[in-house]
Amino acid sequence: MKNAAIIIHGGCTSFDKGDKLESRHQAKQYSSMVYIIKKGWSYVESGKTAVYIAEKVVNILENDPSFNAGIGGALNQKKEVELDASIMDGTTLSCGAVSGIKDYKNPVSIAKKVMTDTKCVFLTGVGAQEFAKKEGFTKTPRKDFVTDYQLHWWNIIKKNTIEREKRMKGTVGVVVLDTHGNISAATSTGGMSYKMKGRIGDSPLIGCGTYADSRFGGVSLTGYGEQVIKTALARFTIDLIRFKNYSAQQAVEESIKELSLLENGKAGIISIDKNGKIGVFTNEKYVNHAYMSSSLKEPVVRFSIV
Ligand code: ASP
Repeated sequence: MKNAAIIIHGGCTSFDKGDKLESRHQAKQYSSMVYIIKKGWSYVESGKTAVYIAEKVVNILENDPSFNAGIGGALNQKKEVELDASIMDGTTLSCGAVSGIKDYKNPVSIAKKVMTDTKCVFLTGVGAQEFAKKEGFTKTPRKDFVTDYQLHWWNIIKKNTIEREKRMKGTVGVVVLDTHGNISAATSTGGMSYKMKGRIGDSPLIGCGTYADSRFGGVSLTGYGEQVIKTALARFTIDLIRFKNYSAQQAVEESIKELSLLENGKAGIISIDKNGKIGVFTNEKYVNHAYMSSSLKEPVVRFSIV
């Protein structure tokens, strides 16, 4: 199999290892990622297309309550879960996005439907929810989205702004280069913890949290969404691969450098270039990630980039 590759992320954090609840949570994420990267790679090996794999892998992450996406999404100031997602097919440059989803646990699949079945790229709020209903997506009761873990942190960060800065981030994402040479990227999130109701970050914005162009590479981000939007970082990364001939790793490192110029410019970024080379970098303590490619014998699963 030539040059195929897949990388996933489960958010970036600066959690303190002495924190027992957080350590347990991270251990759960770790074992989920071991399973999910293997599952994702089995799709690649069976010849599925990149966009199919991107959706299915993000669905598994969305259904896992230990990640800030789908079930287990972060709570906004009103204690609600509002979900955002995007997906891009790098071969056709088709893309789809949704935001403000409250009743459906797999927003990336709604985003994919927007991509394949409408002339739009982005549906938000009530319109996105009506579209999901019309397309036959099954509703999940709102209370089922709320996990004890997110409630615990909501109660703490409501009063403590230092903790709020530390705990704010999460998100899941994937980039795939399939066996046919197609690249796809997808990102799904509950957004920043304790965000304002109605706030939308970078994750559903094409060119910011997600981008893919099969001629060059694909990117998914996690981190401080407002700053990622200001730098249009996903597209910036692809442009480095395109115009400067950077490898995925060189491009993600340069992108984080660019983001670091902004106050609070903190993020984790994953990428695959057209040669199947992996890129992963963060200026946070950790970016939870896993990858596999045709040049590796076993998947790599790790939280720290070194
Ligand atoms: N980037 C996401 C947002 O700003 C949050 C995250 O990745 O943790 O909504």
